[in-house]
Amino acid sequence: MKFNTPLYYCTECKTILASLDKLLFVEEESSKGFCSESCIEDFYIPLIRHFETLEFELRNRLGISKELENEQIIQHMSDKELVDEVLSSPSEIWKNCNELDEDIFTYIKHFPDYSGIVICKVYNAEASFVFLSTLTRSRQFLAEIRVGEKINLNDLSGDSSELNELEKEFSEEDFIFMQLLENKKSVLLAELLEKRKEDDISFEDFSLYEACFSETIENPDEVFENKDYEGDLLFIYIKSYIKDNENYFYIISCLKRKENDESNEVNVFPILAFPTNDLDLYSGFRIGKKIAGHINN
Ligand SMILES: [Zn+2]
Repeated sequence: MKFNTPLYYCTECKTILASLDKLLFVEEESSKGFCSESCIEDFYIPLIRHFETLEFELRNRLGISKELENEQIIQHMSDKELVDEVLSSPSEIWKNCNELDEDIFTYIKHFPDYSGIVICKVYNAEASFVFLSTLTRSRQFLAEIRVGEKINLNDLSGDSSELNELEKEFSEEDFIFMQLLENKKSVLLAELLEKRKEDDISFEDFSLYEACFSETIENPDEVFENKDYEGDLLFIYIKSYIKDNENYFYIISCLKRKENDESNEVNVFPILAFPTNDLDLYSGFRIGKKIAGHINN
């Protein structure tokens, strides 16, 4: 290399690279280039800590530090799946810009009973580095995490029909429904704790039964419909598993929600899902009207 050769080097380890196209970029319109993925990580990891600390402090302040910690519904999704879901079809995108014109983006996707959040850098219209991914049901948490300028999702794509659908604001009704779901969950969980026998499958092992969730929803042996004490319609999905060394049932209790449009569409949302080997507990859930036919999940 000669003195007159243009100089390109890794922002992190300062390795000299032969040409510009050898540099990897994370930020739009930035001269920060890197020689490798590991240098990208080394460079940005302190910022991950920064966002983790912010999240920790905000959750403590709002009293939701343990929010969603032991949710089976949520344990179904790995961090990577969550990030992919949120980034591929966000409901909201926020762009937070500093005075150096450096951007950080917040992607939010509203799922039926919680919201996923990803804070990241964007390069070439794609997320290039994720600082934080988390889930919440808290409206205040969402309010604090929305910073900067809201991006109009219609601007991002020519074919906006799908995005229009996704852009629908998370309505007041959605929040009320989420809270209802949360209340039902605490009631059901309390009942379950009371009725559970000592030798039933332990809570610590519930994650081993995760695969049963989708199997039970998609292909239940039995579905019961009943009204709870508040008059809300619940659906109980049950599937039995008969195995050489272990027989058990997987039970999912769902709440019905009628959509407020002309479609007459009915959706059901899981409240609580668990495995049990206790026949008495299983029988206790087989109440109400046994129904057949398709239910739209
Ligand atoms: Zn490097």
